[in-house]
Amino acid sequence: MNIQAELISIGNELLSGRTLNTHGRDLGEALAAIGLQLSRDTTIPDDIPVIGSAVDEALARVDLVFASGGLGPTIDDITRDALAKLLNQKVVIDQPTVDYLKEWYEQRGRTITLASTRQAQVLESAVVLPNSVGAAPGQRIELPQKKILFVLPGPPNEFNAILSEEIIPWLKKRYADARPRLVRVVCTQGIGESDIVTILEATGYEPQGIDLGFYPGMGKVEIRLAAAPGHEARIEEAEQTLRELLAGHLELS
Ligand code: ATP
Repeated sequence: MNIQAELISIGNELLSGRTLNTHGRDLGEALAAIGLQLSRDTTIPDDIPVIGSAVDEALARVDLVFASGGLGPTIDDITRDALAKLLNQKVVIDQPTVDYLKEWYEQRGRTITLASTRQAQVLESAVVLPNSVGAAPGQRIELPQKKILFVLPGPPNEFNAILSEEIIPWLKKRYADARPRLVRVVCTQGIGESDIVTILEATGYEPQGIDLGFYPGMGKVEIRLAAAPGHEARIEEAEQTLRELLAGHLELS
């Protein structure tokens, strides 16, 4: 089972360099832990046609699409409208969210305004995913051909709360057979990437069914081996061979 997901992060501030986009890292890690794969991470501006085409293209490629940002009360928060247009759905007010927002604002000594109630707008077919740490809820929209679109607010604490409390448990049930990929890590020190590659090429080290990744940094290189679930013997052998080939260059633990 190889279920792939894509993330579309929406926001001009992510492209201008004012905000570091952290959602890809958080989503990639959370999905990998339950055996699903983040296969693409796209950042786009607050622009209705661009949002529509990015989500449409992602839905054509993968089963799970996550769109984040642009769900707030201001006029540049246009994600809902862009998705409604793309999916040909109405935007409706979710009354339980209005009640929650009233309480949320009251607890902070503020009264809910007409603008704030925009955060209770969801697509007509959405399942509303409560936001335990902020205002705008997440949404799960089930589409033809078993495609799922998740819509999440931009602030990382809200994105991560809805992800861990609502989405990951749901995905775990839906893809109960999915297993995380097997990963092994070998760390070297005092040898550069190109010298490692020279050794591996000279010895014909090309383990079948193993993805190799090289991550250099500060005099060290982390080599990650990854294999599909069920290939424990294969990854064990690949790791042992690698350790033998690089003996003398391995990081002392
Ligand atoms: P809000 O209701 O708070 O307006 P929103 O869904 O409209 O939420 P945005 O307005 O797009 O979210 O972003 C709100 C805040 O979250 C901004 O400070 C933004 O920089 C931050 N943010 C948005 N997307 C990301 C991201 N991908 N990574 C890190 N921070 C992000």
